[in-house]
Amino acid sequence: MSTIRILEPTVANQIAAGEVVERPAAVIKELLENSLDAGARRVTVDFSRGGKARMIVEDDGKGMTGDEALLSLERHATSKIRLAADLDRIATFGFRGEALPSIASVARFTLQTRPAAAPAGTEIAVNGGKLIHRREHGMAPGTRIEVANLFHPVPARLKFLKSDETEAAHIVRLVRLYAVAHPEVGFLLREDGREIFRSPGDAPLLDRVREIWGRQVAEEVTLMPVFERPGMRLSGLLGKPGVSRGTRQDLVTVVNGRPVDSRTMAFALTESYHTLIPKGRYPLAFVFLEMDPAWVDVNVHPSKREVRFRDEAKVRNFLIESVLAVLRARGDEGLPAETVPAVMPAAPMAVDAPSVSAPVSVGSAPPAYVPPSAPAPVSPAHAPAVRLGWRLLSRLREERAVFETPAGLAVLDLGAAHQRVLYESILAQFTAQKPVSQPLLVPLSIELEPLPAAVLKERLPLLASAGFDFEEYGRNFWRIQALPAWLEPEQALAFVRDLLAEMARREGDFGRPSLAYDALAKLAVNKARRKGDSLSDAELMELVQALFRTAQPGTCPRGRRTYVEWTDADLTRRFG
Ligand code: ADP
Ligand code: MG
Repeated sequence: MSTIRILEPTVANQIAAGEVVERPAAVIKELLENSLDAGARRVTVDFSRGGKARMIVEDDGKGMTGDEALLSLERHATSKIRLAADLDRIATFGFRGEALPSIASVARFTLQTRPAAAPAGTEIAVNGGKLIHRREHGMAPGTRIEVANLFHPVPARLKFLKSDETEAAHIVRLVRLYAVAHPEVGFLLREDGREIFRSPGDAPLLDRVREIWGRQVAEEVTLMPVFERPGMRLSGLLGKPGVSRGTRQDLVTVVNGRPVDSRTMAFALTESYHTLIPKGRYPLAFVFLEMDPAWVDVNVHPSKREVRFRDEAKVRNFLIESVLAVLRARGDEGLPAETVPAVMPAAPMAVDAPSVSAPVSVGSAPPAYVPPSAPAPVSPAHAPAVRLGWRLLSRLREERAVFETPAGLAVLDLGAAHQRVLYESILAQFTAQKPVSQPLLVPLSIELEPLPAAVLKERLPLLASAGFDFEEYGRNFWRIQALPAWLEPEQALAFVRDLLAEMARREGDFGRPSLAYDALAKLAVNKARRKGDSLSDAELMELVQALFRTAQPGTCPRGRRTYVEWTDADLTRRFG
């Protein structure tokens, strides 16, 4: 028989910690939010080994008396709300009173704090939820919290942490988001005492983005005017037309000073740009929305950044109208009527390229990722021609062709067929373990966000085996010295950004080479341009031949059908 017991507070806190602090960056988030809630004007964050060894958050906020400090470590102790009704109008970050006790239960935790009015401060040390000491401590007004040996009291959780670099990247991204969201507060972020960035307090937004997010990003955005509606105000920076990302990484949305994820806002922004950037990609934006806190629901999940609006449609419309107004006003700066995806080379390049009968190149417009020099393992010169018996009857629109087949009639989708051929040829290079690499005369340089940079570092061997040669030459700055033969230098930067984003999103898959190569090839193929209309008949037949030499001629790498066939019996049946 089981006995029901009340959990010891430490155990309850450790369980709560499982929700609140999933990784070091989550600890920093809670501490930062407390500092901001305490009215800090300056916040310093320092961390070691991705935050696993040590994290320090120091502020000049209002501090706590000794008794308040002790109370702050009790579960559900909060100075921020008193009544359930207050939950409807939360203007502060914290309100659950769970963070400090949770963190203190899974680490070595030292709190030093002093209100300006008190003659001295207090130091409280806790280890794994057990009070070690409380004593007087001389210090300037404010609060300093140090969290060391995160998860040592609960070793099972240690193994869920990623590499130091990945965890560090999450911390950097988080502090950047908060720094950009809080113009009135000066932020200093350090790793082992080395400065990563310092946000200039009260500087114009664009300058702050340059300091915090880096020069490249700052060059890709421009200031938008302020828009107002009753109860709402919108301001920020918008990406220049044509600039896009494969993920929402640079789609920063801030609501009432809180960096948030909002599907509604992300959707509204992406929609507004829909004619300016390729489908499936995201614009860049740093957007600040201010509104009555009663209209915003932040009480969604303690560790998530998701936010809901009481009136989602109103927010969505406001954003779309405002952003469209900006984009239309810029129209005369020469917005292309039909935007070419950023990853594609300028159209004339592809069209003028000489037609070379490279095995996977389809006609005079070489597919985006297969320069004519790309040597493919499945070369028609060496591979036996398949006796298919397909006879070309006619072209159908631009991207289809109709064939008479031994069984009946088939319609081929040229784009899908081309993608299958290309995909298998790239994959074959990987599995042959001899990717064809093209050294670059002039290396490409790329500045990466901390997270993609960390992913890159972890995946260097994989990328090398795929034909890339990366060299680090500064924090988050990389040089690309060589590319796989199937990747055009013009498209390399955009491709690498997308690839790293994909790798970050599917961490697990990329640990297994076969899945990694598969994803890499799919990504490459996905960008391949289909130009069926420019194929000569001979090239078209070559494509069909190549298709039927692949392992799965029936579908493209993403599962779309490459052709549909009606047998004579099918046709007879149709005639009834
Ligand atoms: P919550 O933020 O949800 O109230 P926390 O556990 O994060 O809960 O913090 C508990 C309390 O400790 C806060 O309500 C606040 O009164 C106090 N506190 C925490 N951090 C600070 C700080 N940096 N400066 C001043 N007071 C703080
Ligand atoms: Mg808090």
